[in-house]
Amino acid sequence: MRSPAGKTLKAESPDIVGMQRGACPALAAPMQTGDGLLVRLRPAAGALTLSRFRQLALGAAQHGNGILEITARGNLQIRGLRAETVEPLAADIETAGITVANGVAIEISPLHGIDANEIADAGDMEAALRSRLGGLLTSHHLAPKLSILIDGGGQFSLACLTADIRLVAQQTGQWLLSIAGDAQAATPLALDNVDAVITAVGELLDMLIASGRQMRARTLETAALHARFPQMDSIRFTQAAPKKPSFVGPTRLADGKIVLGVRLQFGQVKAADLISFLDAAESAGAQQIRLAPDRGFLLIGLTETALAAMQRTAIEHGFSVTANEPAEQIAACAGAGACASAFYDTRALAGRLTALIPALFDGSVKLHLSGCVKGCAHRRADLAIVGSAEGYSLVLDGLAADRPTARIAGERIDFAIERLARLIEDKRSVGESSADCLKRLGPTDLAKALQQE
Ligand code: SF4
Repeated sequence: MRSPAGKTLKAESPDIVGMQRGACPALAAPMQTGDGLLVRLRPAAGALTLSRFRQLALGAAQHGNGILEITARGNLQIRGLRAETVEPLAADIETAGITVANGVAIEISPLHGIDANEIADAGDMEAALRSRLGGLLTSHHLAPKLSILIDGGGQFSLACLTADIRLVAQQTGQWLLSIAGDAQAATPLALDNVDAVITAVGELLDMLIASGRQMRARTLETAALHARFPQMDSIRFTQAAPKKPSFVGPTRLADGKIVLGVRLQFGQVKAADLISFLDAAESAGAQQIRLAPDRGFLLIGLTETALAAMQRTAIEHGFSVTANEPAEQIAACAGAGACASAFYDTRALAGRLTALIPALFDGSVKLHLSGCVKGCAHRRADLAIVGSAEGYSLVLDGLAADRPTARIAGERIDFAIERLARLIEDKRSVGESSADCLKRLGPTDLAKALQQE
């Protein structure tokens, strides 16, 4: 791989065993979006050295449009590729020694192996699953979006993430196997030792494969599940409470080292900003990054003395180091300036919204700012503001492509934001959340208020 300056980048030895090297599997099936092809990839065990992360950023600049994303599930995305640049990117990834797991996506606790509070190492469990069930996990008969989650416990919990198949470490030394949903909603099937639960996961995958390509765990028949897991209704377990609600900000590990969680603004970062930030992090002693759910990553290996300066550096590079900022409630796509299909600058509008309607951002509301009707950034939101040739469409409780609640001409968007601010201020009942207020107002009242002079 060559840097923009033409410097040849050195390959490092691969990080992990049990992962397929060679042609990056994620790059075999890039997705078409409004700003070119997109590839989603999860580096082995969700971990990268700083040098390799830098090389991925260089690859994004060289072969894509220079924008990298980290998704709500902690996966990396490189945007703006063209058909002829996908293969060179795959070759660069291989040359750099970055290993990408093949087959079903497996998401694991971000601090696996280094968190003394972890009950069991989720990384070991992933390696064991891939080693024993490799053939099943790469079957083309599994649904493309099938997901497996492994929560080893510890400082951060993956309880809020949904998954088809979830494995959660228990204090008893066993693993809880459940399916379909987040930690609260998933249906428990088995509570057993490592070997037995891996066998059970294999049987579940067999059931899904036998049922057809698009089958997800939630659609498995209850009778078939009971036949295989007769004890499922009598399983008793305790849900360990996470020590920290958010990965963002500093966390102290038992060995005295500091982990700094940084969140990408709207889940995106420009390659140049990321490279510059990683250079500073390396100088400050960071050795590795771990991808984290909720659009960010953790810097591993910082010292206490380097922390304050690193937090300032993160902010200067556009990252967030404070949990629960208003921007967390906004999903914004690349927008004008980064995507040729965009009708407006989504990030600029996000800034205006957080400045002008602070009352809207009480933690309850999900906002989606979409440069066009394709809606790349988010699936469903309480309120979506969608760009079009005529201006903006507002969609209440829906997708960017849904029928708009109101249409706003381009030059009237600031006026509409002011109206929305006043509406929330005037109409919200005591103790009512913004999301509930928007829901109660409904499409008719909202459209009327936004269009009134
Ligand atoms: S939703 Fe945004 S990123 Fe996707 S194609 Fe439209 S403008 Fe581009």
